[in-house]
Amino acid sequence: MKKNLIFVGAPGAGKGTFSAVLTAEKPYCHISTGDLLRDEIKRDTQLGRSAAGLMKAGKLVPDEVVAAMVESRLAQKDCQEGFILDGYPRTVHQAELLDAVLTKLGKELDRVVLFQVPDEVLLQRLTARESCRKCGEIFNKLFKPSKTAGVCDKCGGELFQRPDDSLETAKNRLKVFYEQTLPVIEYYRAKGKLFTVTALEREQIADLIRKELY
Ligand code: AMP
Repeated sequence: MKKNLIFVGAPGAGKGTFSAVLTAEKPYCHISTGDLLRDEIKRDTQLGRSAAGLMKAGKLVPDEVVAAMVESRLAQKDCQEGFILDGYPRTVHQAELLDAVLTKLGKELDRVVLFQVPDEVLLQRLTARESCRKCGEIFNKLFKPSKTAGVCDKCGGELFQRPDDSLETAKNRLKVFYEQTLPVIEYYRAKGKLFTVTALEREQIADLIRKELY
């Protein structure tokens, strides 16, 4: 099994969805920097308050802030069997900081999975996306609707739209992805770590990833 993974792709490309698929099957710990930041906002910490405005505008939070969160999470016990980094690194500087942290922790990166999806599909997905407030399950009004509108199939929790999934902010997040995260993909391609999946059906993608990683 490939243990230590990065999932990279534009917002809405499926990183969170396939992280959930894999963590249900193998002992990966799932580290989503977006989720960690949203949790800081929810708990109204100083970090959360300083990140909230940037996130709402679709801009990146400073590299050092996210790097520190990732480092402390990676050192925890449940990440020793393998990890999926979802949405990190998003800049080449973050990738370099991650290299240093992995060396420090005696870990090696096994694969970087790139999810490639056309822009028009991404915007459709993002603006129709809903998440459960309670368990985090992801739905989509167009592609994966919940059985009852506004209610999570899995736990009965309330579904909500992320504030940064509005059309205007979603477009901005795509722009930030192309400007700042594309070079990260090249960084890992040059290291021979990249595995690319292009838009296919959900189950086909899951099978491709399993074949490559398990
Ligand atoms: P996500 O849930 O991954 O789409 O992230 C939501 C937002 O959190 C992003 O638009 C950024 O504002 C912030 N964020 C998440 N991960 C990072 C990261 N690695 N570097 C900087 N900002 C991040």
